[in-house]
Amino acid sequence: MIILPSSYIGSPRHMQEYAQDAMAYVRYYGRPDLFITFTCNPAWDEIQQLLLPGQSQVDRHDITARVFRQKLKSLMDFIVKYEVFGSVRCWMYSVEWQKRGLPHAHILIWLYNKITSDEIDDVISAEIPRDDVDKDLHAVIMKNMIHGPCGTLNPNSPCMVDGKCSKKYPRAFTAIR
Ligand SMILES: [Zn+2]
Repeated sequence: MIILPSSYIGSPRHMQEYAQDAMAYVRYYGRPDLFITFTCNPAWDEIQQLLLPGQSQVDRHDITARVFRQKLKSLMDFIVKYEVFGSVRCWMYSVEWQKRGLPHAHILIWLYNKITSDEIDDVISAEIPRDDVDKDLHAVIMKNMIHGPCGTLNPNSPCMVDGKCSKKYPRAFTAIR
């Protein structure tokens, strides 16, 4: 039998150490304050520029992995070193790969100063940003975070099953309180 040491990345002992560390964080610092999901976009310029003629992102998982890793590191710097949510006590993330070869990361952040329920609206927004306030952000949200068009406007949308939207769109708007 061969036992791979914990210094061997990805080995069972290595993963076991990570799992133990993760439990220690919760034991010492309590529940994390922020749970952030960071997804990979195959249309990123950094990926598209490196593809050879005729290739698509599914042909080059090496590029996808490296670009994603660098962007994830830069996001973590943004949060941890530049303290956008306040100073960070500790953090962890895990990267998962899905069937079509795109990675995403689940990030947990523990802050020194806990975010209270009356402050949470300052860091999370579930509204479409106003285009007269932040044009670029508005464009990103409209392009990537909006479902559809589907239904009669676009019967070939991937969400369409038996002539109906499988995600039950369009739905009624919810009024701002
Ligand atoms: Zn739909």
